[in-house]
Amino acid sequence: MRHDWKREEVAEIYRTALPELVFRAQTVHREFHEADRVQTCQLLSIKTGGCPEDCAYCPQSAHYDAGVERQGLLDPQHVIDVARDAAARGVTRFCMGAAWRQAPEGRDFENVLEMVRGVSALGMEVCCTLGMLNEGQAERLKDAGLTAYNHNLDTSPEFYGSIITTRVYEDRLKTLAAVRKAGITVCCGGILGMGERETDRIGLLWQLATLEPHPESVPINMLVRVEGTPLASMPELSPLEMVRAIATARILMPASRVRLAAGRKQLSAEAVTLCFLAGANSIFVGEKLLTTPNPGPDEDEQLLETLGLKPLESHAV
Ligand code: SF4
Repeated sequence: MRHDWKREEVAEIYRTALPELVFRAQTVHREFHEADRVQTCQLLSIKTGGCPEDCAYCPQSAHYDAGVERQGLLDPQHVIDVARDAAARGVTRFCMGAAWRQAPEGRDFENVLEMVRGVSALGMEVCCTLGMLNEGQAERLKDAGLTAYNHNLDTSPEFYGSIITTRVYEDRLKTLAAVRKAGITVCCGGILGMGERETDRIGLLWQLATLEPHPESVPINMLVRVEGTPLASMPELSPLEMVRAIATARILMPASRVRLAAGRKQLSAEAVTLCFLAGANSIFVGEKLLTTPNPGPDEDEQLLETLGLKPLESHAV
């Protein structure tokens, strides 16, 4: 397990001939994970739209008109009921996302804590993404039973300013440090296809792989081009670039769960299969990922069955 990767080493791995890269990644994968297991996670938007940040890919930003209907924080009991239904379908990790710049104090935060306690009591892994967090908030979430906190680095430090201007990379790293300090596991990854260069994809993977410890969960997203956002007319990314990034992440962070996250609906079953072969071992299930479409539960079950893959149980790592 290494945390001292050099950027040139990451570039060399990333640029390996694809069959060799996938072979190496699958070899590493089998040393650290059960080859036929995939974690299934469900993501629910608990507070939607109206976010003051200007992330160029995001339909929930108040800076763009992407037709997302704003909704205040959901009722905790409703959220717990949705999680219970997901658990009954075999989902083992439940993620709650709120479109905030910074997790609020007061009643809304108390309600989030209630949701975390309720979902945790179902025996599921619980993850939240609430924007920036301070150390005190991270500790309270940990006490409520939070397993993981999602906070993506999105892209390389150099390209970050072209995508988001309302915060800096260092803010992200500070929240990640607060999460670590509280003893919560980290879910941190990025998005491909935002107009970045290959060196930016390498830069993102290098940043993630030099975090110590590595994020336990690494979501690799493919941009969903939403009308009304500045990235709506980006050219479509080659699915093989996703495969390359996933394989590289698997080699650099062997014990992490690498999650094939947003954009899966744009990938063929064959491309998704290649992503699994490259070391992805976690997916989001459910019809929606916050506000963007995802394959429905039937489609997911069918795919896993066709491939002979089984869902991973909760708290397996
Ligand atoms: S990605 Fe998150 S922080 Fe950025 S605009 Fe969307 S909801 Fe806000």
